[in-house]
Amino acid sequence: MYKIININNNLYIYFSLTMNLFPINSLVDTNIASTASEIEIYSIIKEQFVDIENQEDQILELLRNMKSRYDETCKISGMQLNIAYACNMKCRYCFADDGAHQKSGCLSNNIIDDVTAFIERYKADTVLIHLVGGEPLIDFSSFKTVVLIIEKKLKQHVRFTTTVNGTLLNDEILGFFNEHNIEYMVSLDSYKKDIHDFLRQTKNGSSSYNKIMHDFVAYKDKYRYNSFHITVTPFNINFSETVKALYDLGAYHINIDFVKSNNKEFIFDNDKISVISEECKKVEEIILTYIREKKEISCHPILTRIGRIHKRKPIISRCGVYSSLFACDSFGDIFPCDMLMWEKYKLGDIYTGIDPDIRKQLVNDSSISENCDTCWARFLCGGVCASDKLLYSGQMFMLCELKKILLETRLRLYVRIREEQLDFDFDKYM
Ligand code: SF4
Ligand code: SF4
Repeated sequence: MYKIININNNLYIYFSLTMNLFPINSLVDTNIASTASEIEIYSIIKEQFVDIENQEDQILELLRNMKSRYDETCKISGMQLNIAYACNMKCRYCFADDGAHQKSGCLSNNIIDDVTAFIERYKADTVLIHLVGGEPLIDFSSFKTVVLIIEKKLKQHVRFTTTVNGTLLNDEILGFFNEHNIEYMVSLDSYKKDIHDFLRQTKNGSSSYNKIMHDFVAYKDKYRYNSFHITVTPFNINFSETVKALYDLGAYHINIDFVKSNNKEFIFDNDKISVISEECKKVEEIILTYIREKKEISCHPILTRIGRIHKRKPIISRCGVYSSLFACDSFGDIFPCDMLMWEKYKLGDIYTGIDPDIRKQLVNDSSISENCDTCWARFLCGGVCASDKLLYSGQMFMLCELKKILLETRLRLYVRIREEQLDFDFDKYM
């Protein structure tokens, strides 16, 4: 399996399973696309290709025979902990029904000790706890209590992260984040006020954009207010402008995520996919400019795993649901992940534990994708995500197209960093 990539009018071939990447000329491109005998003209290249083809075949065989990616041990290394089934916003694309998942209530003090005991019982060496909602800060007192109790019990074995809507942040909360090393991202969908406020409306009618931009300026240095999450939709499809504006204003990390929704107005058609492809090329230029200027930035998913291309280290499985990711809701019920925090996907609870049969069934229902074994991006991607498969099965083709656009951008960026011999520490992006 291979993919021909055009980078600034130069052609490269990327072998998907061995992760080999070579420059080629257009004649080779034509010959690869035709018959094997024509490849023989290029004896040196052919030798390399034959060798690689053999290796690729072997890896494909291994992949096919690979046992299920399912890890039966139920060791938790990632836990998405729902602080509140509530939110002060009503974003147009919210997958969680305005953050409530059709429920209500906050994680009560009564069960925090039991949640902590559950995590302690199943924990791997370290656990990354991602505090989610609704809006995780809707009840800061619960948020704080959760962090303090878990931290006291699990000490160095635990790390906290959260993604917030940015409307409730203040000195006290940001000071708490700093003190407890809680990494946080703020959701901002556009550097243009009207677009952001259209997509991310507050329930009280105030502008979330104004609050976020004010805090970004005020708290950027004091509280490392520099990480943003952009949900790209058909309404803010020119996302490269926002990426540039945020980096130029001093952002360090930007997470680019494509909206997932079964609502027609949020589904990307082919025209939109072409626009996204062009937008990714612009983001590539922006990132490259920053790297040339030796400015440290981070961008998920374009930069995050770029070091793996350099080391030819495949991503066998990306979705944590098959291994060690779980989610716990405000009542102590356990689910595979935040996206799947719906009754039908419940795996157990903090008192009775995780039901291995239910979990195995869910993994079996979600882990098979006929397309992954023949996908050129298999080892850059890591394969199908359980929530995509279960919630958006009708959109898998489009979701994969979007992933592949991002992954091709990562490949192009890698080649350009190398060809320009830029000073770049690939080890930081594994
Ligand atoms: S802030 Fe998050 S939870 Fe609240 S409505 Fe928006 S997307 Fe949903
Ligand atoms: S892009 Fe889609 S088909 Fe390709 S490896 Fe990822 S999930 Fe599988």
